[in-house]
Amino acid sequence: MWTTWKSIFASTLALGTMLAPGVSFAQTPVDAPAGAYIPPQAEHAITEVKVPKLLNKQMKNQRVTRGPIHPNYKMHVTYDSQNHIINGKLSVTFTNNTGVRLNDVYFNLWGNAANFRTNGGGMDVKNVKVNGKAANHHLQETALHIDATLPKNRKSTVSMDFTVHVPKGQDRFGWDGDTVSLGNWFPILAVYDDEGWNVDPYFPYGESFYSLTSNFDVTVTTDKKQVIAATGTEIGKPKLKGNLATHRYIAKQVRDFAMEMNPNYKIISTTVNKVKVNVYYAEEHAKFSQDLLQSGVDSIKLFSEKFGAYPWPELDVVSMKGWFGGMEYPQLVMISLRDNATPAWVRSVNAHEIGHQWFYGIIGNNEYDEAWLDESFATFAAALYDNELDQLTAEPVPGFHLSHPISYFTAYGQEGISAYYDTVYDYGARTLNDLRKLLGDKQFYASMQAYYKQKKFGITTTKDFIRIMEQTSGRDLDKFFAEHYVFVSDQE
Ligand SMILES: [Zn+2]
Repeated sequence: MWTTWKSIFASTLALGTMLAPGVSFAQTPVDAPAGAYIPPQAEHAITEVKVPKLLNKQMKNQRVTRGPIHPNYKMHVTYDSQNHIINGKLSVTFTNNTGVRLNDVYFNLWGNAANFRTNGGGMDVKNVKVNGKAANHHLQETALHIDATLPKNRKSTVSMDFTVHVPKGQDRFGWDGDTVSLGNWFPILAVYDDEGWNVDPYFPYGESFYSLTSNFDVTVTTDKKQVIAATGTEIGKPKLKGNLATHRYIAKQVRDFAMEMNPNYKIISTTVNKVKVNVYYAEEHAKFSQDLLQSGVDSIKLFSEKFGAYPWPELDVVSMKGWFGGMEYPQLVMISLRDNATPAWVRSVNAHEIGHQWFYGIIGNNEYDEAWLDESFATFAAALYDNELDQLTAEPVPGFHLSHPISYFTAYGQEGISAYYDTVYDYGARTLNDLRKLLGDKQFYASMQAYYKQKKFGITTTKDFIRIMEQTSGRDLDKFFAEHYVFVSDQE
């Protein structure tokens, strides 16, 4: 995601609900400065950086292998664009590779987050089955718990019917006017690792998404007038019946499946490195359409050369009017265009979101525990695209370290938001640029390409990144990372 202080404040004031649970504004910070900002209370509350011994989670079992692997989703959904309701059937088959027998399985239902519920959103499930047999289940906010017996090294299938109320409001999940944004809209299999099942809370200011690469076969029926951008590739022509059209999409090795639709979208397309790049734009954003297409092409070219090839056949860039700058999904980026956007800003935000195709999409991570592994890297990628690496000079925020800043955000509430962004986006990107300067361009990008090869379609951790940088450069980087507040934490 990419955002700014000002857009956060605007959204909070406009929606009044974009707050993390238990967090409230003590004041109305309309005139807060853009850029570096240290909350006044934080100055005395946080004075010293300490190496955390253990962050906020217990390691349960270090011998567990992260899983379940190879999720294969089949979904048939209908979207009612009058009432903004999705009805669907989902089945997902996966292998329990964790090394232990599992007695339950979790899904994340992000649409049940508080900020969506207050705008009319929500999700529910019924008819839950495990390997064809009815299974007890319990839904608590975003976490769906299902009783299941999943033997080691065996395939299992979970199926369910689900209903989604899409909330009002232009967010990554929400509808506004003709535009419908469907990010994180279906029940998605959680990840089991040494912490157990990961069902962290929704985080509206950043992300708490964590999923393994999966295959999707999705059939969507809705008004035939809808123009749909989606993860994956559309197979064949839509089937028409009355006012409805049924589309089918196949996506491979992706962590999520997102859609954006608007009956008035226009599309421009081109091809780069055999990747089809499509820009979907509403008429009001026509003046930015060429900037989006060109920066899309240039970003794919540049990041493929520096980090490793873009591995999917297609990328969709969609225009919308969210409160944030942009949001990344596999093969689909949402770019939020405001009236005062400049072409340079639009190109840079697009480069950031496309940077996430590498850092989140190809190389995945636990975004809740270690957000810097995608946000710092996407910010670095955008600065590389902007030819502004020398402007990555942000100073560290007292008390925050890169490996798990959300624990500080939780501790310091609203005051911690600016520190979160300054740390995870700006100081993390500066850290990567300092590493580039230390290793030299040739070694740095060679090491990044080795990182891509080792982690492609997998999950990375801070520890993995440091190890790969050290092994490929032949240098001991402990001091460098410690001096940059990168500590190996509970993700060891
Ligand atoms: Zn981002």
